[in-house]
Amino acid sequence: MSLAERLAVVDREALGRELHDRVAEIYPICRSITGDGVRGTLARLAKDVPLSVHEVPTGAQVLDWTVPREWNIRDAYVRVPGGPRVIDFGQSNLHVVGYSVPVRARMSLDELRPHLFTIPDRPDWIPYRTSYYQESWGFCLSQRQLEDLEAREYEVCIDSSLEPGHLTYGEYCIPGATEDEVLVSTHICHPSLANDNAAGLSVAVQLAKYLADLSLRYTYRFLFIPGTIGAITWLALNETRVPRIKHGLVLACAGDAGRMTYKKSRVGTAEIDRTVSQILRESGQDHEILPFSPYGYDERQFCSPGFNLPVGCLMRTPWGRYPEYHTSADGMDLVRPEALVDSLLTTMRVCDALEGNATYVNLSPKGEPQLGRRGLYRSVGGFSDAGAIEMALLWVLNLSDGSHSLLDIAEGSGCSFPTIRHAAELLEEHALLRKVIR
Ligand code: ZN
Repeated sequence: MSLAERLAVVDREALGRELHDRVAEIYPICRSITGDGVRGTLARLAKDVPLSVHEVPTGAQVLDWTVPREWNIRDAYVRVPGGPRVIDFGQSNLHVVGYSVPVRARMSLDELRPHLFTIPDRPDWIPYRTSYYQESWGFCLSQRQLEDLEAREYEVCIDSSLEPGHLTYGEYCIPGATEDEVLVSTHICHPSLANDNAAGLSVAVQLAKYLADLSLRYTYRFLFIPGTIGAITWLALNETRVPRIKHGLVLACAGDAGRMTYKKSRVGTAEIDRTVSQILRESGQDHEILPFSPYGYDERQFCSPGFNLPVGCLMRTPWGRYPEYHTSADGMDLVRPEALVDSLLTTMRVCDALEGNATYVNLSPKGEPQLGRRGLYRSVGGFSDAGAIEMALLWVLNLSDGSHSLLDIAEGSGCSFPTIRHAAELLEEHALLRKVIR
């Protein structure tokens, strides 16, 4: 079965449930850039795809960075001595600032106050905060919780460890006919935030599941890596493999109700940039294309000038542009099954176009070949819109001079990529077209 055929038989409702259920399973796990949360998440993803888990020791030099100590957390709270907990990690893992050093102390509210973080404008939401590279500790809580704290002594406990250990990441490679690679990367370092990025993980795994069953032109490499340090670590350890990456996508925020957004690679005109733009245009749905900027997700690392890989970032609503971003309100309610399906289908259409893009030469270039005689004109079955396929045949014949790819033709003609590709296949069957082998 080809990807296009797989796309045609997708049961969107069942798929939405599967994607959403996976988000729900990943969501509660307390992840960080290192530690057992990442391992637990990879173990869950490994139920769907046979990914390999890599452990890189603390202290390893990776490009300009050093793999940090491993952070794990068992419990954390602030409580009235001998009384109830007023802030409880057991209720939300967002309550603890990520990478907080261990603390066991009694202190006044005044002493505790500099370690408490809220969002005054959103009094019911808990913010998400980390302190990876500066030793500190803290609690995040809702503004209402803060206002309810009495001025008295509290017992403060963060039962965490920050010790030499490992940075953990997952990798899954699906071999294709060539060693040229398509990279799909998602970050796996956020605790209980559903859209950013349990949704991206769920979509990436589903894409991998589908691709694994197909015979493919490209080799597909999926990375499930902690943000920034994970991408830097992978790049440092795989520098020799990097030139094989021909196209790449960072997937994030794949489940909110917003429109699709694509942030172009640093190259800006790479085949992946043009392919995603074409697929989004063809979708007929509202979408946004953003230029590259050196901020965002791990495209920052893949597109650093020393690598300059053709890797863009596919999202729905971008980071920081939805109020729930990096707060407890980025919960399961924010992630919609139909949005997850739409994100997945977009990635599948992009892969289908990458797989099918090629350059051809017209073998009967003097005058138009007589299509009617070959049953190609006014008699093409299978496509409901015969006019569209006829236009596509004419475009493919006219522009297949060995220098225009099918993507070029789709862009120039206004025909959809699948229609252009179908036209090329028909013409090839009728010996009117030959693929240029590069
Ligand atoms: Zn984030």
